[in-house]
Amino acid sequence: MAPGEEGCAGGYLTIDLAALVANWRLMAARAAPAECAAVVKADAYGLGIEPVVGALSEAGARTFFVALFDEAKRVCAVAPQAVVYVLNGLPKGAADLFVQHGIRPVLGSPEEVAEWAAEANAFPAAVHVDTGMNRLGLAPAEALAFAQARPFVPALLISHLACADEPDHPLNARQLADFRALAARLPHVPASIANSAATLLGGDYRFDLCRPGIGLYGSNPIPGGPNEMRAVVKLDARVVQVRHARAGERVGYGAAQSLSRDTRLAILSLGYADGIIRAGGSRDGRPGARVMMGNTPCPIIGRISMDLIAVDATDADAARGSLATVIGPDFGVDDLAAAAGTIGYEILTSLGRRYRRTYLA
Ligand SMILES: *Cc1c(COP(=O)(O)O)cnc(C)c1O
Repeated sequence: MAPGEEGCAGGYLTIDLAALVANWRLMAARAAPAECAAVVKADAYGLGIEPVVGALSEAGARTFFVALFDEAKRVCAVAPQAVVYVLNGLPKGAADLFVQHGIRPVLGSPEEVAEWAAEANAFPAAVHVDTGMNRLGLAPAEALAFAQARPFVPALLISHLACADEPDHPLNARQLADFRALAARLPHVPASIANSAATLLGGDYRFDLCRPGIGLYGSNPIPGGPNEMRAVVKLDARVVQVRHARAGERVGYGAAQSLSRDTRLAILSLGYADGIIRAGGSRDGRPGARVMMGNTPCPIIGRISMDLIAVDATDADAARGSLATVIGPDFGVDDLAAAAGTIGYEILTSLGRRYRRTYLA
């Protein structure tokens, strides 16, 4: 690592926008003839709304989904022509604000529908119907009542699958059938049910618009199967020192991990404050995640601290200032997630603010 401020960072996050675009194109091919949107909530799953939306709109994405109004404004700033939906719905009294900014709420309750009908009837909004999540969306009877009364014509009708990542789960077919029956009652309204996993499955899940998120960012939408997505994220961390400890000694907070051999430890300059969540550490009897130093896998030893991680670099070529790959081709987002007992979504959306970020075009 060259000297200078760059060399003083703890971690280096590299985001491959060409891989992101390739993933969106793959999703778009599966979605066809339906339109392929992009879900960019939570700062584009931690990777940065502005560069992600910039790259995807340049590649042809026209519709974006976020969770919150503030996120929608950020999308509009980068892609003024884009259609932007706010999945978390219409906050009380905010109809005017949405209309002013040309941002579309995804109305998810009878109260929100009534407010929009009263305040913004003529402006486009989506309606969310619940087919089995019990999270957001009109309940089946409320959805039927909406289809009958039709206080306005929605720009989009959506539902969301609870188990799309388990293609054989019986709830998928049931949700699909219920959604199709409801969509038939609103014949000229475009419909959408597919997240990443369902977009990859294609077929009947496509309707008029697909809404992939996680797959665009490289995590496997259908765990257990081969990952069709290209890796988008690489994370390297700086070794701040190399030290030696004897068999039987303990490492880190809580003295949770004892060493089974004389060990050369490399101390890395990142931790749970950077999104390397604490559950990914090791303790006696339970291995944690690993990092790669050159071609050598180095297991994390002991608890992950706020800003530091110890790894066993006995078999690796480690020196002060060298880099360890925490997320990369040999140990990806999903591997780190599995080692920490979570999912790729949580790893990505937790990625810290203090990395040096590089976007590859
Ligand atoms: C987050 C979200 C998506 C995208 O899901 P992925 O599994 O990330 O592809 C689609 N639709 C809704 C309603 C969501 O909340």
